[in-house]
Amino acid sequence: MGRTRQVAKAVAAANDRLRPRPRGLVILIYHRVGRRSTLEVDLPTDLFARQVEFLARECEVVSLDEGLQRLETPQSPRKIIVAVTFDDGTDDFVDVAFPLLARSSIPVTLYPATSFLDSGSELPDGGRPASWASLRDAHTTGLLEIGSHTHRHALLDRLAPTQIAGELDQSIESIASHIGAPPRHFAYPKALRGSPAAREAVQARFRSAALAGCRANRFGATDVYALARSPIQASDGMRWFRHKARGGLALEDVFRRALNTYRYRGSDC
Ligand SMILES: [Zn+2]
Repeated sequence: MGRTRQVAKAVAAANDRLRPRPRGLVILIYHRVGRRSTLEVDLPTDLFARQVEFLARECEVVSLDEGLQRLETPQSPRKIIVAVTFDDGTDDFVDVAFPLLARSSIPVTLYPATSFLDSGSELPDGGRPASWASLRDAHTTGLLEIGSHTHRHALLDRLAPTQIAGELDQSIESIASHIGAPPRHFAYPKALRGSPAAREAVQARFRSAALAGCRANRFGATDVYALARSPIQASDGMRWFRHKARGGLALEDVFRRALNTYRYRGSDC
């Protein structure tokens, strides 16, 4: 599998050379840092630290709000504009990832699946949830925005409208009561595009919604309810990470999406 991944990344990089990438806001998705699991989305701490250094040195890292504002008008900035996001809400985010980001004053949006933080039970891929107290502390720095990722990590392409509303509203209530402000941004679990009813429910409640897609969101030409985010994996190392931070490796994401559609058949979270 490791070799297949490297080949997919190399093929995607070759495709980038043939088709130039448009400039725009690059949104990175991280999941975990610190190798408390063997998941491909769980990065070694030293690799993440090097990626943070790269972002601080080579890119203009903005909050999601500022990024969305920049998307409203066409522009051609000198540096790459990047926003950093994390999904799910495991405890390594507060223990390992956030301190490294904060040290470089890098803003970050975390999308936790709130039922796991409320109950303290393990997340779908294993992993302990962060505590609300630790997120509240991180939030006071002004560098952390908390978004919604549904309550139970629900896949919104297959639920009835009342269930969709329940998933969104419970997550909003939980975040508002623990953090003191309701979430303004949303990320679809597993980056699966929602049904038309889900999209409508999301648009009525949030200012933006994120999917996946290894590409930049183009200035002046982006649907903020279908934001592309580039998933970062342990096997990216620094080499492929640099490509993704520049909005590259679109083809890798096409492979990943095809696999996910097959993988999550028949489950609802
Ligand atoms: Zn997730």
